[in-house]
Amino acid sequence: MNRQTGKREGGIRRVVIAGGGTAGWMTAAAVARTMGAAIELVLVESDAIGTVGVGESTIPPLVTYNRLLGINEADFMRETQATFKLGILFDEWKERGSRYFHSFGLTGKDHWSAGFQHFWLYGRHKGHQHPYDDYCLELLAAMAGKFAHLPDDQMNYAYQLDSTLYARFLRRLAEADGTRRVEGKIARVELDEESGDIARLVLDSGTHIEGDLFIDCTGFRALLIEGALHAGFEDWTHWLPCDAAIAVQTENVAPPVPYTRAMAHDAGWQWRIPLQHRTGNGIVYCSRYLDREQALERLLGNIEGTVLTEPNALRFVTGMRRRQWHRNCVAIGLSGGFMEPLESTSIHLIQRAVLRLLRLFPVAGISERDVTEFNDQQLTDAVQIRDFLILHYKATDRRDSAFWRQCAAMPIPDTLHHKIELFRETGRVFRRNEELFAENSWVQVMMGQGIVPQSWHPIAAKLRDDELDRLLGTIRDTMRRTVAGLPDHAAYVAQYCGARRGS
Ligand code: FAD
Repeated sequence: MNRQTGKREGGIRRVVIAGGGTAGWMTAAAVARTMGAAIELVLVESDAIGTVGVGESTIPPLVTYNRLLGINEADFMRETQATFKLGILFDEWKERGSRYFHSFGLTGKDHWSAGFQHFWLYGRHKGHQHPYDDYCLELLAAMAGKFAHLPDDQMNYAYQLDSTLYARFLRRLAEADGTRRVEGKIARVELDEESGDIARLVLDSGTHIEGDLFIDCTGFRALLIEGALHAGFEDWTHWLPCDAAIAVQTENVAPPVPYTRAMAHDAGWQWRIPLQHRTGNGIVYCSRYLDREQALERLLGNIEGTVLTEPNALRFVTGMRRRQWHRNCVAIGLSGGFMEPLESTSIHLIQRAVLRLLRLFPVAGISERDVTEFNDQQLTDAVQIRDFLILHYKATDRRDSAFWRQCAAMPIPDTLHHKIELFRETGRVFRRNEELFAENSWVQVMMGQGIVPQSWHPIAAKLRDDELDRLLGTIRDTMRRTVAGLPDHAAYVAQYCGARRGS
């Protein structure tokens, strides 16, 4: 270590990725494409261990990620059996029988001083009956089962995909860009005796893989960052108490819809994610209130279509690694931490970490300043997402089970408390520090969970009645006309990918 610069001596030439799940191959594809011949990139994965085998619902930034990698969208969708996704339908979160939609995109129009919700709230006060949902294109298209690419990215979308196929697709890109893949089980991680950094991975076969920078993509095992470097883990189970999941895949019983479902039950929730060739289902639950047999029974009792796979049961601890970049090791993917897939954020967090690492890539040696910057930014992302997830559990009228009573009674982080109360009192929401979930997301979920603002921005009340009618009416008419002109989602996907439906 150079005391003046805080840099470890020596540049980074040999980069080793441990693990070849979605995280490993997303990292390899982007690093190989960006760094090219400036580095040697090796990825080690074990066919015998395999991947976590879940992870199907994504959010819009993945569209940009694929574009950065120069991926042709139709090829990608064909290869990963992807469908388009316009948001998530939440059933029974506020109370039994309730439902709301968290869509991508904007609702209504923004004014420089006030979000659209203020105009809608004032309109409601003046007797307008139309629900907030009627002002959001993505939401209306999703509910009508429609989709098309619109000019100027007017329709904000993501994908529902098979993440195992996505990893396979990215592997081809990464290998074409020079990544060397080594198959084998990592038996040991050896540290440099002097510096304490990781020196090499030792495989079962006896092969040594030396490196300057190691990226831990070994999933929940976290072999390098925790197993070897003991970076520590921040446990968030007291805010997000679910700790288990079971996944199964089923045949499609209907053409795939462009949205994911998150259906609450009395000790967690269940997902349904339609792909082109099958549907992904899973139950997320809190093992304190539901055992594995009960969870499986509940899952199998609430699926449609023939089951195609053996149930995949997983345990997890919600939280994040204290230092995601520690010494010469960066944890990306499940090795860096995990939050339940309620808002489909895990693959996104992989993408954020990869792009952040590339921006801070330590070509000339690892600087503690870069490490600190990386870890701070990672923490900010994770905390913002954590708060957004907690909102779904905390702001509920459900008291019908011990699980929901626990959620409703739990103390929440101050940051979230402030956001909820500001909205409740004034209808205001602010996006800070490039937060992933923008105002539209917070407003839809807060109102969906039953938080109704007590007032609105006075600028809305400056509109004369005829101006307000015109504003709201014009937006509704535009949305209705646009959605009426959209094609059916499943037909559009089949035509776009040249895929055979149901195959
Ligand atoms: P893994 O897929 O577990 O890959 C680990 C890799 O490390 C494998 O290649 C394995 O072979 C290798 N490995 C491990 N040990 C060794 C060893 N000793 N030697 C050699 N290789 C080794 N994310 C979303 O964005 N949307 C979702 O809808 C979603 N749903 C989810 C549902 C559940 C129940 C869970 C648990 C996760 C979900 N996720 C979701 C998260 C998503 O699955 C992961 O973020 C993503 O798959 C990345 O996983 P990974 O690559 O980090 O780990």
